[in-house]
Amino acid sequence: MKKISVVIPAHNEEGNISLIYQRIKTVFSQLEDYYFEIIFVNDGSRDRTQLILEELATNHSEIKFIEFSRNFGHQPAVKAGMDFADGNAVISMDADLQHPPELIPEMIRKWEEGFDVVLTSRKYPKEISYFKKKTSEIFYRFLSRISDVDLKKGGGSDFRLMDASVVEVFKKFNEDDLFLRGLTSWMGFRQASVNFLAGERNAGESSYNIKKMMKFAFTGITAFSVKPLYLAAYLGFMFSVLSVVGYGIYVIESFVSGTEISGWASLIMTIVFFGGLQLIILGIFGIYLGKIFKQVKERPNYIIRSKNL
Ligand code: UDP
Ligand code: MG
Repeated sequence: MKKISVVIPAHNEEGNISLIYQRIKTVFSQLEDYYFEIIFVNDGSRDRTQLILEELATNHSEIKFIEFSRNFGHQPAVKAGMDFADGNAVISMDADLQHPPELIPEMIRKWEEGFDVVLTSRKYPKEISYFKKKTSEIFYRFLSRISDVDLKKGGGSDFRLMDASVVEVFKKFNEDDLFLRGLTSWMGFRQASVNFLAGERNAGESSYNIKKMMKFAFTGITAFSVKPLYLAAYLGFMFSVLSVVGYGIYVIESFVSGTEISGWASLIMTIVFFGGLQLIILGIFGIYLGKIFKQVKERPNYIIRSKNL
């Protein structure tokens, strides 16, 4: 019998935990050669999530949990679950049932075919907001272009299966800014993908708002690419060439027409424009500097308050 560890981060998911457990249990009852454990990672929930987990864990031996000391975020929660998982394969999925457990047999089949990582590609049903669909599509296309990681369209979901050997590699990572989707793609191995239809979340509210999504996007870009840093060099070069050409034109023009060109308005605008540009570039430098600052302190990605493994 092979063991499958299912890692589920949970932030205020009191309405979903029992249900997702039931659904996963049903799925595995139809799989003969596999048994499972679920590692719930309570990421600083302020509802009854912890109580429910403790109760479930006492009654069902396949349920384990890790309780964080506070909210550390979705990515550290998934990492924590993987750190403590010891299955032959590890599956990570959301608690809100937007990732259908019924897809697990297909993922396992791919894994048995010899793939080390089985990604899932989310196809959106019509009800999901156009805004969310579009923003995520644009983001992943942009990220694939700007960095060296290829995140296939729609492939940006944290629902995936990883072979134990891949999880071993993950365990050694101690990056401060975790972006697991990017890391998975960056790592290589043999990867396959299966499709699923993303539904609405079952109960509770999404913990991702615009602000968190923006932060996630910034993390994704700056954790995987130093291309923004080159921006300064490119722009500097471009404007230098432009200024030399412009300077030549003005000199010739003043000789030809015999008048000096006046215009302090354009002068002010130019100064403001370059002031802004310099601040933007300084900001980009600052972001990377901040990342180095955070990384050198080597603080852990998460702190565990209690666990039942
Ligand atoms: N989550 C978490 N910590 C957070 C935010 C979210 O562990 O700070 C979990 C959440 O419980 C869920 C998954 O991450 O299992 C995805 O979150 P959510 O459904 O809110 O995101 P969305 O599906 O809206 O992108
Ligand atoms: Mg969700």
